[in-house]
Amino acid sequence: MRYWPIVLLALALLAPLPAAAQAASIRVLASLARPDFPGAISFELAAEADADIVAVELLYGETRSEAFTIVDVDITPGRQVEASHRLDTQVYYLPPGTDITYRWQISDAAGNVLESEPQQLLYHDTRFDWSERSERNVTVLWYEGGERFGQELIDSATNTLDRLQRQIGADLDLPVRIYIYASIADMRGALEANEVEWVGGSAWPNLGLIVGAIEPGDSAEVRRIIPHELSHQVLHQATDNPYGGVPRWFDEGLAVYYEEGDGGYYADQVADAARAGQLIPLEALAASFPTDPQQAGLSYAQSREVVAFIDATYGADSLRALTTAFAAATPLEQALEETLGRSVDELDADWRATLGGLGVQPTPDAAPQTAPDDRFSEPPVLPDGAQPDPAAQPGPPPGDDWATRITALPAWASIGGLALCCLALVALAGAGLLVGLRLLGVDKRV
Ligand SMILES: [Zn+2]
Repeated sequence: MRYWPIVLLALALLAPLPAAAQAASIRVLASLARPDFPGAISFELAAEADADIVAVELLYGETRSEAFTIVDVDITPGRQVEASHRLDTQVYYLPPGTDITYRWQISDAAGNVLESEPQQLLYHDTRFDWSERSERNVTVLWYEGGERFGQELIDSATNTLDRLQRQIGADLDLPVRIYIYASIADMRGALEANEVEWVGGSAWPNLGLIVGAIEPGDSAEVRRIIPHELSHQVLHQATDNPYGGVPRWFDEGLAVYYEEGDGGYYADQVADAARAGQLIPLEALAASFPTDPQQAGLSYAQSREVVAFIDATYGADSLRALTTAFAAATPLEQALEETLGRSVDELDADWRATLGGLGVQPTPDAAPQTAPDDRFSEPPVLPDGAQPDPAAQPGPPPGDDWATRITALPAWASIGGLALCCLALVALAGAGLLVGLRLLGVDKRV
């Protein structure tokens, strides 16, 4: 059948449409959607009416969200019409496992409008023969490694849910699907084309979807990826609200903290950065992480260490209390003050003070404790993790010299001094010029 796919009008947030109107004069003969993973979804309709059908619209969207895309589908008006629309999922990316809801709106020349009943479609990755196991709102899907691997995956998932329930008091209220590919190459075919190179998995908490690559038998990766990604899903479901979000360092820090392992790798990474004076201010990790792999890695490690510090210092209830505060859209500063009695900077400083125990030495050329304007192009440079309390350590730090004292002056003092020097130089040059001109007799008036 010939049809013209029409550019979608807009991704519009629509109020839920009224229940399908009973326009008996318009009848749906067939309606279906066929996924062709990972390239497209084809929607097809056949309908008839007592008067000529003059317009057909397709409405579709992710079932979990209330956003619908509306497409004006080209038809040849008549008592019987066929309409179809091909959604290019290479252009409008959808992750595997997305639930799609769709329906048609059909209008005839007599002014009748029929809204068809909503239909569901699972946009599944049909390239592999998946096995699946479900427990407590989690479904894991895998295709290599047999039942034993599947059991390992679902066990890791339920263990994580138990721990999250105990610690942050939250569970999964909505279903989550976890697609485990046997290799990164297999997984890449399911991810967006421009996904960054080093990504080993992806998650869409708003859709309840996780995609990861774990080779069967790699138990360390199971214990790393499943708890990490499930933590994101549970935290998202527990805190989702239209008014405020969770700081990135808390979300990722909790996820990395939940990975099963001793965490020594992250502590070492943070200690190395502290020695090099390259820790990132906690405040700069609230909104987003750098895309540079090394800086991104450090961001995850630092976030993990701060969450571990909160847990160890303020007790398990503190993580639960923070989660509750974020669920109520409490701003970050207020949430920390109410829960821990500390500001973001104070929490950052408290945590850095603990790094002294790792043998971290102060960095001589300490820079200001602020992130540069663009922390993606220039990693922030900080003092070390062991920040001395100024009140407890009066006087210049060891190794102080004039250069560091001058650079330590406030900006207004440095600029003012420079301006005075310039003025003095200009005055000297002017006086010299006047003397020279007089000697040459230039100033004599004729
Ligand atoms: Zn993460």
